[in-house]
Amino acid sequence: MILDGKKTAQEIRGELREQIQAIRAEGKRAPKLAIVMVGHNPASETYVANKIKACAEVGIEAEKIAYDEYITEQTLLTEIQKLNNDSSIDGFIVQLPLPEHIRESVILSAIDYRKDVDGLTPMNVGRTVQGLPAIISATPRGIRELLARYSIPTAGKHVVVIGRSNIVGKPVALLLMQRPYLSLPGMSASSLGDATVTVCHSKTRDLASICRTADIIIVAAGSPGLLTADMVKPGATVIDVGINRVADPASAKGYRLVGDVDYEHVAPVAGAITPVPGGVGPMTIVSLLQNTLQAYNHSFEQKH
Ligand code: NAD
Repeated sequence: MILDGKKTAQEIRGELREQIQAIRAEGKRAPKLAIVMVGHNPASETYVANKIKACAEVGIEAEKIAYDEYITEQTLLTEIQKLNNDSSIDGFIVQLPLPEHIRESVILSAIDYRKDVDGLTPMNVGRTVQGLPAIISATPRGIRELLARYSIPTAGKHVVVIGRSNIVGKPVALLLMQRPYLSLPGMSASSLGDATVTVCHSKTRDLASICRTADIIIVAAGSPGLLTADMVKPGATVIDVGINRVADPASAKGYRLVGDVDYEHVAPVAGAITPVPGGVGPMTIVSLLQNTLQAYNHSFEQKH
């Protein structure tokens, strides 16, 4: 089974559009997202354009705020304070990566967690750990939603996560190991979370044999072809988060996008698999929209 992130994200965008239309019908203003960009990174510009397009589709107002690459850390911090205090903006993100002279951790820590719709601030991560109302980071939220919509339970399953980044590996491990406290379309609360999670990384020994014990493998390593068919238990679910550009003279752009999974050989072994593109990527964007609506409504996930 192919876990179609593009189609699922489209369905969720339809639901969001209806919710926002209902808000507007009550005479209230539209939710608003601001996207802060520093410098010119072609990949980031594509991601930001996609986010703005997705916002427009559901009725979220989006504003891109661009600074040149020489902006100082202090000036950027001042701009972030302005966004924290601007009541017309419900949520904002700082598009990563930032130029070398700006410390990512300092910038992220300055964002008011109630407006942190990427869910990357230490406050939101810490609050998620403790089951306090929080905004969940976009890619893990999208993965959980995709599993739920395809009725793939995580409770009691062995989930192997490859990669320990702050934006994917660590938060997705946290989310899926948690005691469940929320229902999603397609899945009752009792089937979400409650997984036994193993987190692997570049220093893990014998990755292949660990992967073979997994019911669900989530690969977020940034390494094309890392997960091969011999590493996958027949019937396992494979979630490919990787986005890698590989040279392709046959394509107009000179490259094509591939994930971290040897898709051609893994797909016949796996019970369910996400394609790249069209898997986790669109789910990440739609999660950002869901988070923005949550920030607008001041309704954050919490354990009951
Ligand atoms: P990262 O690039 O910061 O770190 C990679 C992680 O993978 C590290 O923890 C490292 O230890 C681990 N790793 C690398 N090679 C490994 C190997 N051979 N064996 C085991 N572990 C290994 O991680 P990231 O920022 O989460 O990005 C990972 C990939 O996911 C990238 O391709 C990125 O572009 C992509 N990504 C996609 C989305 C999306 O929406 N689809 C979102 C975020 C990141």
